[in-house]
Amino acid sequence: MSRYAEFYRQSIDAPEAFWAEQAKLIDWKTPPQQILDASNAPFVRWFAGGTTNLCHNAVDRHLATRGDQPALIAVSTETGTEKSYSFKELHAEVQRFAASLMELGVGKGDRVLIYMPMIPEAAFAMLACARLGAIHCVVFGGFASGSLASRIEDATPKVVVSADAGSRGGKVLAYKPLLDEAIRQSSHKPESVLLVDRGLAPMALTEGRDHLAAALVEKHRDAQVPCTWLDATDISYTIYTSGTTGRPKGVQRDTGGYAVALAASMKHIFDGRPGETYFSTSDIGWVVGHSYIVYGPLIAGMATLMYEGLPTQGLDRQPDGGIWWRLVEKYKVTVMFSAPTAVRVLKKQDPALLKKYDLSSLRALFLAGEPLDEPTARWISEGLGVPIIDNYWQTESGWPILTVANGVEQTRSKFGSPGVPMYGYKVKILHEATGEELSGANEKGVVVIEGPTPPGFMQTVWKDDERFVNTYWKSVPGKLVYSTFDWGIRDEDGYFYILGRTDDVINVAGHRLGTREIEEAISGHAKVAEVAVVGVADALKGQVAMAFVVPKDGAALGDDQAALFLEGEIMKQVADQLGALARPARVRFVSALPKTRSGKLLRRAIQAVCEQRDPGDLTTIEDPGALQQIRRSLSP
Ligand code: AMP
Repeated sequence: MSRYAEFYRQSIDAPEAFWAEQAKLIDWKTPPQQILDASNAPFVRWFAGGTTNLCHNAVDRHLATRGDQPALIAVSTETGTEKSYSFKELHAEVQRFAASLMELGVGKGDRVLIYMPMIPEAAFAMLACARLGAIHCVVFGGFASGSLASRIEDATPKVVVSADAGSRGGKVLAYKPLLDEAIRQSSHKPESVLLVDRGLAPMALTEGRDHLAAALVEKHRDAQVPCTWLDATDISYTIYTSGTTGRPKGVQRDTGGYAVALAASMKHIFDGRPGETYFSTSDIGWVVGHSYIVYGPLIAGMATLMYEGLPTQGLDRQPDGGIWWRLVEKYKVTVMFSAPTAVRVLKKQDPALLKKYDLSSLRALFLAGEPLDEPTARWISEGLGVPIIDNYWQTESGWPILTVANGVEQTRSKFGSPGVPMYGYKVKILHEATGEELSGANEKGVVVIEGPTPPGFMQTVWKDDERFVNTYWKSVPGKLVYSTFDWGIRDEDGYFYILGRTDDVINVAGHRLGTREIEEAISGHAKVAEVAVVGVADALKGQVAMAFVVPKDGAALGDDQAALFLEGEIMKQVADQLGALARPARVRFVSALPKTRSGKLLRRAIQAVCEQRDPGDLTTIEDPGALQQIRRSLSP
């Protein structure tokens, strides 16, 4: 048996012994009393009775051994700034932030919503929450007021931490007006808002509620705020993700299990070593940002490079398709993490840029978030000359489910496959309708995980255990298994291939969006009677959203000018409510949508027509003419 196969087997056959060993990778104030409690399936409690703190493990633990080494390197090609913080400096900054939050009344269990661009204060705020035992809820800065409002409503934060603005490609995006509008829309009102003023956009402050971070932080310059010791099962954070309904789900994570899972993944999967530099190009608003910009690398004693800007713009704000590689050279990055879409963007740049810098420090590039197509994988693999490691996981899992664990044993990757199940994950392929296990090679089914789920995996849906069980664990008939809602197959060597979602979730440039959320934003438009949104294959972004709208009056159907105008209005409405990310690539007008006789929208048939595929079995369709209309509406 190969070394990894044996490692995996131990994790499945003797999970308590396996994870007790992994638990030694982090510091505990008091050791766990019980490694695994799976008595209330599908809920799992890891390391109960043990007390620890994520911020202690990410920062304080390293002070004695590597206090003067870099911990956080913040680079912004938007503002042309570059700043490095040692572990000691990070420790001081986090305590200042923690003291500021304490002054605003934040304590253990309170929620703090963080709506921030990729600036160091965002990491200070997250770590400060962890230090205090407050639950952070980071909302991606690209979301607009509607998305933000629903998250404020659900998380009921005591404090919101935000900034005047973000910037993308030199374009300033003012956050404060979006935040003010979101708070206005939400029935929950945070007591305080803590604002970082970057000097990018004017901010109107609300007396008594809004505070400038600089003033508070300065006041607490010398603050010493000890870590609050939390039970391993106490909540560290929630992060919202899209599902099949219009209402986002708050994925809730514990403290001790998460810390152990990250420490173990840094060793066994990423093979990142203390004193080295880790560079993830993601954003703190996504799970990758939580696990592998902030917590994972720091827990491993690595410096983390936090990057604000496009992959094609230099520090002098001039076009520079080699900026990432320049940073790899400068900071001797050993482990890098990005997304296939970003690589596809770079493919349009001069390939000589990949050879211009000394990339000898780099050991591997990890790519995740969406399917990695073979041409892109080959292009970047040949260009960089380092292993490209596809890894498959979800917001829910917190760390990779499928990949190769090169820290355990050098394992061959196969193009097109993210790899094999990671230790702790019992991954199966089941028949969608019967729930029967498909154990033959290349049989297509739903990818599921059998409990108990490993440390780091979501505990539940925030405030909604029932939704957690019903959504994730009851979708396969007759079995209590966690559904990933992805189609997959496994080949004869045990490598998995992911073939797209089984639900109405789409993946635009590695970002997960619910088509229902976009439909809800569109149907709120006064001129819209009905709408269907589907994800359509796109060469650059993987998928884009496409909307088919039945207008209330016929003007947009017969008149190109009217259609163009309404398309523009609808796109703006989506961007204003949800953010530019969710804006459909195209809006087309039809007089009816294809539905079954029972009134169910045939989204998969619409998607097939858009991708010029066979729409499949249409015996249940109410009006075949509606699908014809979709087809016609696509011709230019
Ligand atoms: P998110 O929760 O936003 O990380 O999105 C998770 C979803 O993205 C998964 O359920 C998959 O549909 C997709 N995904 C993530 N990583 C990969 C990958 N390496 N290959 C294929 N699909 C992926």
